[in-house]
Amino acid sequence: MNSFLHTPAPAAQAANAAVRRLRTRVGVLALSVLMGLPLNALQAQTTFSRLPNLGDGAQVPLGVERRLGESIAREIYRDPDYIDDVVLSDYVQSLWQLLLASARQRGDLTPELDQQFAWDVSLIRDRSINAFALPGGYLGVHLGLIAAVASPDELASVLAHELSHVTQRHIARMMSQQDRQTPMMMAAMILGVLAASRTANPSGASAANALMVGGQAAAIQSQLNFSRDMEREADRVGYGVMVDAGYEPQGFVSMFEKLQQAARLNDNGAFPYLRSHPMTTERIADAQARQQLLPAKTPTPPNVTHAMMAARAQVLTNPGVDVLRALSAQADSSVTKQAPLARQAGALYGAVMAEMRQSEVKKAQQHLTQLQALPLDASAQRVVRLLRAEYLLQTSVPAQAVSLLSAHNDIQKTASHIDKDRASMMLLARSRIATQSVEEAKLAAQALSIWLTQQPRDAGAWMLLSSAYEQQGDGLRAIRAQAEARAMSLDYPAAIDRFKAAQDLARQLARESKLDRAGNIEAAIIDARLRELEALRREQTLQR
Ligand SMILES: [Zn+2]
Repeated sequence: MNSFLHTPAPAAQAANAAVRRLRTRVGVLALSVLMGLPLNALQAQTTFSRLPNLGDGAQVPLGVERRLGESIAREIYRDPDYIDDVVLSDYVQSLWQLLLASARQRGDLTPELDQQFAWDVSLIRDRSINAFALPGGYLGVHLGLIAAVASPDELASVLAHELSHVTQRHIARMMSQQDRQTPMMMAAMILGVLAASRTANPSGASAANALMVGGQAAAIQSQLNFSRDMEREADRVGYGVMVDAGYEPQGFVSMFEKLQQAARLNDNGAFPYLRSHPMTTERIADAQARQQLLPAKTPTPPNVTHAMMAARAQVLTNPGVDVLRALSAQADSSVTKQAPLARQAGALYGAVMAEMRQSEVKKAQQHLTQLQALPLDASAQRVVRLLRAEYLLQTSVPAQAVSLLSAHNDIQKTASHIDKDRASMMLLARSRIATQSVEEAKLAAQALSIWLTQQPRDAGAWMLLSSAYEQQGDGLRAIRAQAEARAMSLDYPAAIDRFKAAQDLARQLARESKLDRAGNIEAAIIDARLRELEALRREQTLQR
């Protein structure tokens, strides 16, 4: 198609240089905001002449947008509220992969974009209702959104909308429209706005949160908002993507109604999503027009798996003890017992989660037994089995968790989505490691290694693999796996540090003649990876 898709070398180099200078620029911005300087003063004091002109949106090369996204994602991965919960991640992925497939099918997601962008969804431990698209195909979802939506269809409507901002290259267009801003400035601004969208709580309060107060946050937010036309386009394309993916169009409508209601109540604190996606009259009119085209509303029974995942998301946002107690009590109320299956399952699941948090093992066991007795479909049964495994791990009987999860391994293998059942694989590996048996640790390492050949970017799997090697007394592989985990979280200095430690250990083992043939191969891999990571770090720090 257009030449920009092939990332012409000189343009890419110039833009890479711009992104390399990001770190220092972030510092300048943070400092200036801290000192209370208005943005235009900040612009006057920074030199823009050396920076590339990005031209119009279509000319922002994909590689440049991806690098900008990486510089933001790197900060998100090291945020203490970034959460890799294997169960919720699988749930969000199950929706996300369907939406991506639909966008591919429709031609909204081109092969070039598909290949060059990350298409990575991060979960953020925050109670507020928010989802966001970052440059380069990085997306984020607050747990509060998962807890608040009533169905997978509602969640899919938000994800499809955000996906469409990326596929329609809205971020690239915004980058080029901000002609006085450099990509680095944008990264700093985006990080600031993200921090400001977070629920203020003592543990989660970040420096950026304190920086982005009042009018400044609003001013920066308004610069980063997509245009009204882009919002309408994301609604239109996103709606097509979600419906073609097989989701209920009603989910789009009811999510829209939720947001509209919150907008009327001016509920910006709980709904930071509204600040970045204002409910304009045009969007509302479009939504109403779409709704009129829909066939009469056919009530679909509430989704049982979703009800449990929403309960899980709520408990994982670390609510207070009063909320945990209420969740526990709700499961025993007569109203819940008369409620539809989804509500019962959600209440029982939430109760078990809340009770496990409070170490009320007996109550958790009772509610878990009740939950297992419900007539659940295969998807819901899997989610309950994972909860039971977590319960067994917490109550220090990992061997039982191993038998429970491995008993279902054969069934999983026959299912076509076996390679996508990350939660079962990870939890089984964690359980095997927890038994402290070397034999079990070997099995865990085997499964994780197979997984990682398919999903080499999975930092969480690398960390677990490191524990599995440690348990076998294989220090060299344990350190290398730690290094890979850091690299996949885009933290290159930390990765280099670990690769160097692995290199030192390999040399020591060689001197002591303890390095066998396999060890020599591992040492060669470590040398090669260290060189690659050093090149990546140089790219990051050049021209500071
Ligand atoms: Zn939007």
